[in-house]
Amino acid sequence: MNAQRLEAIRDRLHKLRLHALLITFLPHIRYLTGFSGTNGLCLILPRKQFFLTDGRYTTQAREEVRGFQILIAKKSLGEEAKKRGVLPSGARIGFEVEHMNVAELQNWKTLYPRMRFVPTRTVVEALCAVKDESEIDLIRRAVSISDDVFRKILDVLRPGISEMDVAAEIIYLHRKLGAEADAFEPIVASGFRGALPHARATGKSIKRGEMVTLDFGCRYRGYHSDLTRTVAVGKPTDRARRMYRIVREAQQRAVDSARSGMAAKDLDAVARKHITRAGFGRWFPHSLGHGLGIQVHEAPRVSASSKDVLKSGNVITIEPGVYVPSVGGVRIEDDVVIRNGFCEILNAASKELVVL
Ligand code: ZN
Ligand code: ZN
Repeated sequence: MNAQRLEAIRDRLHKLRLHALLITFLPHIRYLTGFSGTNGLCLILPRKQFFLTDGRYTTQAREEVRGFQILIAKKSLGEEAKKRGVLPSGARIGFEVEHMNVAELQNWKTLYPRMRFVPTRTVVEALCAVKDESEIDLIRRAVSISDDVFRKILDVLRPGISEMDVAAEIIYLHRKLGAEADAFEPIVASGFRGALPHARATGKSIKRGEMVTLDFGCRYRGYHSDLTRTVAVGKPTDRARRMYRIVREAQQRAVDSARSGMAAKDLDAVARKHITRAGFGRWFPHSLGHGLGIQVHEAPRVSASSKDVLKSGNVITIEPGVYVPSVGGVRIEDDVVIRNGFCEILNAASKELVVL
């Protein structure tokens, strides 16, 4: 696997007339080498590839890193690379402009005044967007952990509990069930707060009759899940039921249409049209979904303005929502694999309205 990924990167390097690619973004380092620590970098050259880290990770690097020559740095990683003469002088070095910060780039330029540092985009991202079956299995595992958390959280949700307490339970359950981290801070938005698409959990208590939107995910061996369900704590209003039904139908229509070869913006339009026809178009302010994998948000983009075309092996979320200010909101989100002619839903969590 490593070898195929490296070959694809070298292909791009050749086209971009670069002598090396410098990778400092940890999810990409893990994707290419297997290293899961917090300090490292990769240098990929036409015939060699190096992984550098510091002395804290000597043992871990030897255990995890495959297919790269490992260098343990005594000072900074950049200085070690220089000391070892890893880069040819006067070379054109590509760096990931979306992931390297200004100070880091400055350091590299100071260390290597004769090198040209050339910004690159999407070299690794383009590879990550199409998953093989072993990657899909890891996402499947992350998704099933989050599905289990959802099932268990239904026992916890009751009138009087605060959003914060529900969020704390979600975090605890993810770890208990084998996740290595949360994908992001869980969203727990009850009642009128459900109208905020990205509401952080607060001390607000959940009241009987309120809808509660739960959006959470975890990371399992580097791969993420991302799940949203909206449930009713006590009998919901007719308006809430109607909002739920429309979002549910829009989500289902998108799931039924998603397949390889489809423009991502057309998939967005399937759900958006249904919501707009029902009169809620202006209350659906975000994109239909996003790619999911080693990052929670990655390629392809699944929005009205996306230029991406869905490919077999993409993993995306499908998550329409409606949010009526000072009333509340509903969002339903599944993680799916794009296949030839259909999409495979990874979630098992029910999408019927749960009334607790
Ligand atoms: Zn989500
Ligand atoms: Zn999402």
